[in-house]
Amino acid sequence: MHLEGGLAPAWLRRQAEQAGLPVPDSLEAFWRGESQPFERFIEAFLFGSGFLKDSAAVMAALAAITGRLPMGSKGPRAVDLWVSPHFLVRFKRLLSLEQLWGGLDEGIAEARRQGVAVAVVLDAVNHFGPAHGHEVLDLVLGGLPDFVVGFSTGGLEGVPFSLWAPVFDRARAAGLKIAAHAGENGPGENVREAIREGGVERIVHGIRAAEAPEILELLADRLIPVDVCPSSNKALVANLGAHPLPAMLRAGVRCALGTDDPGVIPCDLAGEWALAQGMGLNTQEMGLLKRFAVEDAWALRL
Ligand SMILES: [Zn+2]
Repeated sequence: MHLEGGLAPAWLRRQAEQAGLPVPDSLEAFWRGESQPFERFIEAFLFGSGFLKDSAAVMAALAAITGRLPMGSKGPRAVDLWVSPHFLVRFKRLLSLEQLWGGLDEGIAEARRQGVAVAVVLDAVNHFGPAHGHEVLDLVLGGLPDFVVGFSTGGLEGVPFSLWAPVFDRARAAGLKIAAHAGENGPGENVREAIREGGVERIVHGIRAAEAPEILELLADRLIPVDVCPSSNKALVANLGAHPLPAMLRAGVRCALGTDDPGVIPCDLAGEWALAQGMGLNTQEMGLLKRFAVEDAWALRL
């Protein structure tokens, strides 16, 4: 899930009130549970991000994120957290990189005290293109904290992954694992390209891969983990129809459930599990979801 999309709505409303800023209609509509186009999501997501102005706000976001995890579960508790340093520090100039890392460091330490492991994945914006990807790396590679383990693209799947390959290569050379949002707001073919041309080792969403059996086969053959976020998909993916999670699992794809942006699109992990069960998965398939979540979580490999 995303740091910027994980803020608690009550916290956000309070911040907006204090700043004298009205909560945009797009965000109010998502909070009411309405489905809207991706552009409206970006507006809602940006509004919340605008309040990550200091370390304390970053820590509040982390507290909201760990607070949504199911309590009393027997297995390990962990979060792979997508964070957009360039967007927060350079583009919006909300806080310094030191403040961002400091807030994450303290927030992650607090999460660890509560038995939750957190790993950070740097998020770059696909549609801003590879030059932007290099700027993200320029900003952070000089002093990467230990908790940063990966690099990913997000946003609109507007730029081909073949063009992103040099950025991914550079991130990989710096010791980072590579993920990409693909096959969400773009075609399933993007999933194939991200893997084949970009060398991506984890796919976020990937639901459009279900359009073509050979793309599911590629995911299964290469043991590529896929983060599937049913509530987010329902709210953002037009003409989704029946959710493809059962088809993906039955094709052998290593799917795990995620919440994506629960501060914008209200949901929690327990709810995503209930949604998955409602799709007709049997006990064995639910067990696979659980197993892949544990085996593929980057936070559990630290
Ligand atoms: Zn996402």
